[in-house]
Amino acid sequence: MSDPFVEGGLGELESPLYREALAQLDRVAEVMGLDDNIHARLRVPQRATIVSFPFRREGYYEVETVFAYRVQHVLTMGPTKGGLRYAMDVNLGEVAALAMLMTWKTSLVGLPFGGAKGGVRVDPTILTRPELQRLTRRYTAELINVIGPDRDIPAPDMGTNEQVMAWIMDTYSQHVGHAEPGVVTGKPPELGGSIARREATGRGLVSLLPAATSHVGLTLEGARVVVHGFGNVGQYTALAADELGAKVVAVSDVTGGIYNENGLDIAKAQEWVAENGNLAGFPDVDTVTNEELFELECDILVPAAVGGVITKDNADKITAKIIAEGANGPTTLEADLILKERNVFTIPDILANAGGVTVSYFEWVQDLQNYFWSEGEIVARLREIMGQAFEEVLNISITEGYDMRTAALVKGIRRVAAAKLVRGVYP
Ligand code: NAD
Repeated sequence: MSDPFVEGGLGELESPLYREALAQLDRVAEVMGLDDNIHARLRVPQRATIVSFPFRREGYYEVETVFAYRVQHVLTMGPTKGGLRYAMDVNLGEVAALAMLMTWKTSLVGLPFGGAKGGVRVDPTILTRPELQRLTRRYTAELINVIGPDRDIPAPDMGTNEQVMAWIMDTYSQHVGHAEPGVVTGKPPELGGSIARREATGRGLVSLLPAATSHVGLTLEGARVVVHGFGNVGQYTALAADELGAKVVAVSDVTGGIYNENGLDIAKAQEWVAENGNLAGFPDVDTVTNEELFELECDILVPAAVGGVITKDNADKITAKIIAEGANGPTTLEADLILKERNVFTIPDILANAGGVTVSYFEWVQDLQNYFWSEGEIVARLREIMGQAFEEVLNISITEGYDMRTAALVKGIRRVAAAKLVRGVYP
């Protein structure tokens, strides 16, 4: 196979995350016998845009030069889709790696997208609202020919939110001369944002738990659930699990965890966090550290905070029979091997947290059609897509002898490869 990289280095894509994404692709390509030409194409993003632009801070004469990126990994199956993050450590390699993972995720659940990701190298926490708005509008203007409802559709990621999406939609619409809600997802509902997007990732994850528990010989009703992270994904995972009769015994955030062996009042914890900003001080519960949380007696563990938290140091202390990865990349390679040996059933991130991008897809479809669905329709269609993807991944895992993570990647990569092969090489 031809290697586009020079002497083993990754050139401008050099970054630990890109190395990891590539190692994962190479490993799965080998076990699934992926066509060499397709494999070589998939190792590099199809388009990567790097821009720098002037950014005026509040002090009128203070102008900074900001670097920003948008990477589109695969343009074969439709427009590209992926989040936009504002963070100080954003670089081309990281954004390219995340774009590649979005390709596998969207393909796995059968959405008509390739993967993309964007990033602006700034610290959003020190910016005023007008600064954030100016930055977002200039970034959008720089990418005016790169994004669009039929080209590439950004969504919120770290450091960006509904308001940032609204400014992108407005800037894009000003440039093209008419309102174009389909250019971003994760917008406020007033602009064509989808209801139920906020809850989508947690709900999507929990919709897989009845089938997963029955596969390992448990029932979800009464199952003990532990959730690491109590932000968007963690809160709605805990709520949805609670609604289905599971017993959420512990949740945690960056300040630590709360525990009640008889089950926590999740709605109350959510209210507490809305009022106080975090879980610290929540009354009438035991407290646990984030380290202790992973060792609690439970049936289902949902990492829903940050990456790299299940490691070789805690993997053999985990008592859960199921790990459903709400966060991206929560399990290290070494931990994965330990969990596999211990027969812990893992629902990998690209499957478990695909509910978010699935409802983003619904938002895009509704915007294009100017026809909005009810919450019931959205939830039912989300469940259908997630359920089908789960069944297919489980089936590949059983019939072809892969672990669930490999099976999910095989399914995602297979669809992209098939699309590339039938399109052929131009010219
Ligand atoms: P969020 O910012 O809303 O919440 C993050 C939560 O994690 C917070 O409760 C925070 O206090 C906690 N946290 C942060 N660092 C921690 C640490 N070291 N230990 C314990 N808790 C910690 O973020 P989110 O949108 O819920 O995303 C969480 C994860 O899910 C991320 O990995 C993200 O990439 C992934 N994800 C999110 C979505 C989505 O729709 N929001 C979709 C797919 C994947």
